[in-house]
Amino acid sequence: MGNATGPEALLDEVARALRDKLRGDVRRNEPMAMHTTFRVGGPADLFLAPQDDADLAVLLPILAQAGVPLTLLGNGSNLLVADAGVRGAVVRLTPYFAQIVREGDTLLVGAGAKLGRVVHVALAEGLCGLESTMGIPGTIGGALVMNAGTDIGSISDLVETTRCLTPTGDPVTLSGADLGYSYRRSALQGSGLIVLDARLRLAAGEKDAIKAKMERLEEKRTSRQPTRCRTAGSTFKNPPDIAAGKLIDRAGCKAHRIGGAEVSDKHANFIIAHPDATATDIRHLAHWMHRRVKDAFDRDLEMEVELVGDWDGWRADEEA
Ligand SMILES: Cc1cc2nc3c(=O)[nH]c(=O)nc-3n(C[C@H](O)[C@H](O)[C@H](O)COP(=O)(O)OP(=O)(O)OC[C@H]3O[C@@H](n4cnc5c(N)ncnc54)[C@H](O)[C@@H]3O)c2cc1C
Repeated sequence: MGNATGPEALLDEVARALRDKLRGDVRRNEPMAMHTTFRVGGPADLFLAPQDDADLAVLLPILAQAGVPLTLLGNGSNLLVADAGVRGAVVRLTPYFAQIVREGDTLLVGAGAKLGRVVHVALAEGLCGLESTMGIPGTIGGALVMNAGTDIGSISDLVETTRCLTPTGDPVTLSGADLGYSYRRSALQGSGLIVLDARLRLAAGEKDAIKAKMERLEEKRTSRQPTRCRTAGSTFKNPPDIAAGKLIDRAGCKAHRIGGAEVSDKHANFIIAHPDATATDIRHLAHWMHRRVKDAFDRDLEMEVELVGDWDGWRADEEA
């Protein structure tokens, strides 16, 4: 990366070097709206979709040597990416790294595998335990980082081990206990580690019973949540004593709209992004919801949706 002058020239040079060496995709200025469930978000300087471990082994040292920061992307179902986009490289493992292999009563699953597919493979294998994650639209990588789950269980109940890479490509194997799990929290958050795969400990079960439980949970979800809209799931984490949605509802937020972003009237903790929504609209609306709950109940809700990218230009609008 010796001759580049200026950040754009450096990124062009890095992209060229990666295109020469990677089998997977290398794109410049990829709109992140294409890769998030909110369908908003500006361009990533570099967008990389390595196909396998060998591709990762090539790209990590190149990025590290050029000083290009790295952001991991799963299915983009818990992210609010800034309209200004993401500086540096976004690396997405899905749809590769998606193997699902049964070994005894465990499943060895790649970080790029979609949770929904893993749940259905478990059903086909007569393995129970994963039903609690039914309907969560993420990947295994995102689920491990976020400790995805519902009120009847989380992925942390099942993780035996996970194989990760450091940003410079060194392998690390962590046990479930190492991951420091609690509600929607893990030691992976902010660690810079790249999750490659996980071994999930399941239990033998009756297929009919597993299927019935999955159907019950799916019905519950579709009756309570706006599942067919552009959202990122729950905007705020639930405080220990009450659902965040109840506080937001009682603070009178349902159906409030800022620009193209609206508080769902079906579930007050969900923000719906209409086709004209920007990431800025969504962030303003989340800020407004937070303030309404604070003013009404003196409660400080914590964001569950993760802010990603270049938010430097954002300012809270206290008049909204
Ligand atoms: C309709 C809807 C319903 C939802 N319901 C639920 C629910 O019931 N329960 C729940 O917990 N969540 C729910 N969510 C939120 C979301 O689906 C989960 O947080 C999910 O686990 C995110 O996975 P993802 O692959 O989309 O990760 P992303 O949103 O892409 O990323 C989440 C985090 O994981 C990191 N990451 C992703 N992959 C890797 C990797 N391989 N290595 C290292 N870091 C990685 C990212 O950098 C980011 O920090 C819902 C979302 C929607 C849209």
